[in-house]
Amino acid sequence: MGIIPELVTYNVARLQGCKVASRSGGCSLEPAPAYGIMVGKWISVSLFFMFCLGSLRPNRAMRIAEIFKSLQGEGLLTGTPSVFVRVSGCNLRCRFCDTPFASWWPEGEHLTVEQIVARVVELGEEHVVLTGGEPMIFPESVEMTERLRALGRHITIETAGTRYLPVVADLISLSPKLSNSVPDSAADAAWARRHEARRRAPDVVRRLVAEYPYQVKFVVDSPADCREVEQYLAEYPEIDRDRVLLMPMGTEAARLAETAVWLEPYCARHGLRFCPRRQVEWFGGVLRGT
Ligand code: SF4
Repeated sequence: MGIIPELVTYNVARLQGCKVASRSGGCSLEPAPAYGIMVGKWISVSLFFMFCLGSLRPNRAMRIAEIFKSLQGEGLLTGTPSVFVRVSGCNLRCRFCDTPFASWWPEGEHLTVEQIVARVVELGEEHVVLTGGEPMIFPESVEMTERLRALGRHITIETAGTRYLPVVADLISLSPKLSNSVPDSAADAAWARRHEARRRAPDVVRRLVAEYPYQVKFVVDSPADCREVEQYLAEYPEIDRDRVLLMPMGTEAARLAETAVWLEPYCARHGLRFCPRRQVEWFGGVLRGT
């Protein structure tokens, strides 16, 4: 909805202390006290900037880093041709984040839900993966998933499980962040603190697991990480171990292979699933469009 300049001027005039403010914005009676004028000016300036900022961002727009077609490389649907919608923006800052252009340094264009859905439809696959960044920090994700479902799409949502939204999803791919995700506090103390405070949200995880088909994917780099996974799972007896996947950290094939040597047998022994990162095998370490 646009701002009606006349109404703004009228309301500002009233706030400036005019006993009688006309609809045309005039002030016909007693002069306002000095503090009233200052408050009024401050509000006028604020409204002006709010108006300018609002006009830069289309209604209901989300910042989108990329929309592309590829094969799902991780998890229970590995190998499924899918359209990926990667939102740009995240409430966490993982040390190992492989999409910094959607978290640390968010990039991308602002698109409305209509524009996003149109691009997804153009790419023509049945499976759609809403990923990030963190899709659950964008309220528009709800409408987008409702529209995609109405078009018959299968929807996967990839989330760190720190925020809840009543999205429509056929698979919630939860990736809770272990302590190995906390960024180096020497490099960025503020984000290290924020990330640590936000990375666990037990109520959100319980709700997502109760309401949706799910998989739980942990990024693992050492046997100590596996012990942390076990502690985590002990807190959530409702999580089915057959839906828990342990995935090696990294984006280089050699590094992933090194971890797979001990992690794959560990998963077999402990009733968990090993999760290769097939997109690295298929497309190399390319971070965008895969
Ligand atoms: S939650 Fe995902 S997108 Fe956000 S910083 Fe961590 S790895 Fe990157």
